[in-house]
Amino acid sequence: MVRHILDTPVEYLKGIGPSRAEMLRKEIEIRTFGDLLHYYPFRYVDRSKFYTVREIDSDAAWVQLKGRITAMQTAGSGKVSRLVMTFRDSSGETELVFFQGLKWIREKVQVGREYIVFGKPNLFQGKYNFTHPDIEPADEEIQVQQEPLQPYYSSSEKLKSRGFTPRNFVRIMRTLLSQVVQAIPETLSPQVMRQAKLISRAEALFNIHFPKDPLSLAKAQERIKFDELFFIQLQLLRLKYIRMEKVKSRSFVKIGEFFNAFYHNNLPFELTSAQKKVIREIRADLGSGKQMNRLLQGDVGSGKTLVALMSMLIALDNDCQACLMAPTEILAAQHYKTISRMLQGLPAEVALLTGSTRKAHRAELHARLQDGRLQILIGTHALIQEQVQFKNLGLVVIDEQHRFGVAQRARLWEKSAIPPHVLVMTATPIPRTLAMTLYGDLDVSVIDELPPGRKPVKTYHFYEKDRLKVFRFMKDQISQGRQVYVVYPIINESDKLELQDLMDGMDTVSRYFPLPEYQISIVHGQLKAAEKESEMKRFLEKKTQIMVATTVIEVGVDVPNASVMVIENAERFGLSQLHQLRGRVGRGADQSHCILMSSYKLTTDGRKRLETMVRTTDGFEIAEADLHLRGPGDLQGTQQSGLVGLKLASLVKDEKLLRLARELAYRTLDEDPRLESPENQPMVKHLQSSEFDWGKIS
Ligand code: ADP
Ligand code: MG
Repeated sequence: MVRHILDTPVEYLKGIGPSRAEMLRKEIEIRTFGDLLHYYPFRYVDRSKFYTVREIDSDAAWVQLKGRITAMQTAGSGKVSRLVMTFRDSSGETELVFFQGLKWIREKVQVGREYIVFGKPNLFQGKYNFTHPDIEPADEEIQVQQEPLQPYYSSSEKLKSRGFTPRNFVRIMRTLLSQVVQAIPETLSPQVMRQAKLISRAEALFNIHFPKDPLSLAKAQERIKFDELFFIQLQLLRLKYIRMEKVKSRSFVKIGEFFNAFYHNNLPFELTSAQKKVIREIRADLGSGKQMNRLLQGDVGSGKTLVALMSMLIALDNDCQACLMAPTEILAAQHYKTISRMLQGLPAEVALLTGSTRKAHRAELHARLQDGRLQILIGTHALIQEQVQFKNLGLVVIDEQHRFGVAQRARLWEKSAIPPHVLVMTATPIPRTLAMTLYGDLDVSVIDELPPGRKPVKTYHFYEKDRLKVFRFMKDQISQGRQVYVVYPIINESDKLELQDLMDGMDTVSRYFPLPEYQISIVHGQLKAAEKESEMKRFLEKKTQIMVATTVIEVGVDVPNASVMVIENAERFGLSQLHQLRGRVGRGADQSHCILMSSYKLTTDGRKRLETMVRTTDGFEIAEADLHLRGPGDLQGTQQSGLVGLKLASLVKDEKLLRLARELAYRTLDEDPRLESPENQPMVKHLQSSEFDWGKIS
C-alpha cells in the first residue's frame, strides 16, 4: 500500500514507465516520486543566451553555442575509443569529445546539421574543447526558454540515450511538481519556521526546481539546507535526551583517598588551567547519576593522559574499576608504564592486557578483574575481544578514538550490568561544524592550552636537493644527544613496492649514518609485534638515535628526547596525519623541528597542505584547513556519519545555518523533550518517514 504520493514508484509518473524507471534506479538511485523531487538541479543556466566559439575565454563557466557539426571521427579502439566531433559556428571551430555512449551519440548526430551545444569548456593543449557536452538539434528547440534561471540536471550518457536529456528532465520535473506540490508536507513546527525565518517546504521544493529569480532560489536553498541540518541535530539531541533520561549510571559522588593522595603527593607538575577545567566538567558528569558520554579533544601533547588518570581515580574512590583502551600495543604499553609510575606509592592495582599477554598471566588477570582486586586495566582492543569480565566497571576511557569503531565502543558497555561512564579522547582536532554533526550527541570538553614551557615545533619544507643539508642537520642534533624520526608514507602496510621505498630510504640513511657510531631502529607494519616492540624500545631507551618508520608511529608515542621529525614524500600525507606526526616531537623542553621533504611536482592542494603545516601548529586551524581543502566527505568518520546524506548543505559554507539549526533543535527539545506537542508532530512524522534516512546517520 502506498502511504503517501511521494512514495509512489517513479514508473507511474507520466512519461517514465517500468523500463526507464529501472534505468533511473540503476543510474541515480531514484525509486520514488520523493526521490525524484529531491533530485535537485546541479546548476541553473541562462539558456536564452548563446556564446560564440571565439567568446570562450575561461574554463570556469558553462556556455551554450549554436552551430554545425562539420566532421565526426572515432579515434582509438575498444575500451579506449573516443568520438571526436568538429563543431563550427560563425566565429570559429572547437572539438566535442565523447568517451561513453558512442553508439547512440553517433546515431543521433548528423554531420552538417545545426545543433545547440551546452557544456563546460576545458583547456587542452592551448585550445578549448568540450567533453560530453549536451548536444541537441537546433530545429528541435521549439519553445526557447526565456527564464534566465533554467534548472539543469546532471545526466549520464546512458540516461540521455533513454530520453533523460537535461531538457527532458525539466519536462519530467514539471510533470512531477504539478502532481505533488499540493501534497508536500510541512516538516517544521510554526515556531521553528518563524524563528529561522523560513519559507514553507512546498514552496522551497518548487522553487529549487523552478525559481522565479535569484532571491526565490536563495530562499529555497536556505530552507532545504536548514532541513538537512536541523533534522540531524534534532535526532542526535533527541538520542542524548533519551539516554540521559533512561540510562542511569553510577553516581560517583565521592572524591576520596585515591584522588586526593594523587593530587597532593604524586602530581608531577601543576595542572594547566585547561586540564583543571576539563576535570571539573568530568567530575560534574560522573556525579550526576546519568551516564557520562564525553568527548575530550586536546591537541597532541596537551596532557590528556593525566586527565584520564585522574578520572579513573574518581572511579576507584567510588569502589569501581576503570579501564583505558588504546589503539596499539605500543601505546597501551606506554600508558601502562606512565600510569604505573605516576601511581607509585598509591595502593592502586594496575595491569596491562594486550594481544601478546601470555596465557598464564592472562588467566590470572581475569581472575583478579572478576573479584575486583585489579582496579585499573590498560590495554588494546584485546580488552573487548576476550572473555574479560569486570566485577564493577565504572569508567571506560578510550584513547585516540578514531581507530575504534562505534560498535566496538558499544561492546565495552556490555562488560558491566550498569553501563559505565565513557570518556573518549582524541588528539585529532575536529572542526567545530564537523564535531557538532559527528559527535552531536556527545558532550565535548576541550583542552585548548599546552603545558607551559613548550616551544612550538619549527617546520620547514625542503626538496631532494636539500637532502645533504637535512642529513647534516640531523647529525648536528644527534651530536647534541637528540633523537630523530624519519617517516615514510605507506598507505598499505602489506604493499611490497611501498615497503621498498622505506627500505631504500633505510639504505640511504644507514650509509650516511654508519655503524657503530650510529644505531638505527626500524618499525613498519610487516614486522611482528614483538619485533616492533623491541625496535621501539631500543629507541625509547636511547640505544638508537634514528627511528625509520611508517605511520605506525603516528599515534601517541611519547619520546620527549626526540627533537627532529623528517617526513618523506610529505605531499602524500593528509593534513591531520602530518599534524599527528609532527606531534611526536616537541614534547620536551628543547626546540624541536619538523622537516617536510617533498618532490618538486606538487598539486595545488599538496602545496597548500605543506604551506599550512609550515605556517601554523594550531591543530584546530589545521583541521579547519583540512575541511576546506578536502570537504567533509573524505574526512575520517564521515562515511558512517550521515554527512553523505547532505545534498545541499555544506559543513564548510553553512556553518552559520548549522549553528542556528542546532540552537533551534535544542530550544525545541528544551520546551518539549519528548516532542509530544501538536505543533511538533510534523517533525516527529518527518523523522519517521522514509524521506529522512536516519539509517545513514546512526
Ligand atoms: P596527549 O594529550 O597528547 O595524550 P600526554 O598526556 O601524552 O599528551 O602529555 C604530553 C606530555 O606532557 C607528557 O610528557 C606529560 O607528562 C606532560 N604533561 C601533561 N600535563 C602537564 C602539565 N600540566 N604540566 C607539564 N607537563 C605536562
Ligand atoms: Mg595521548
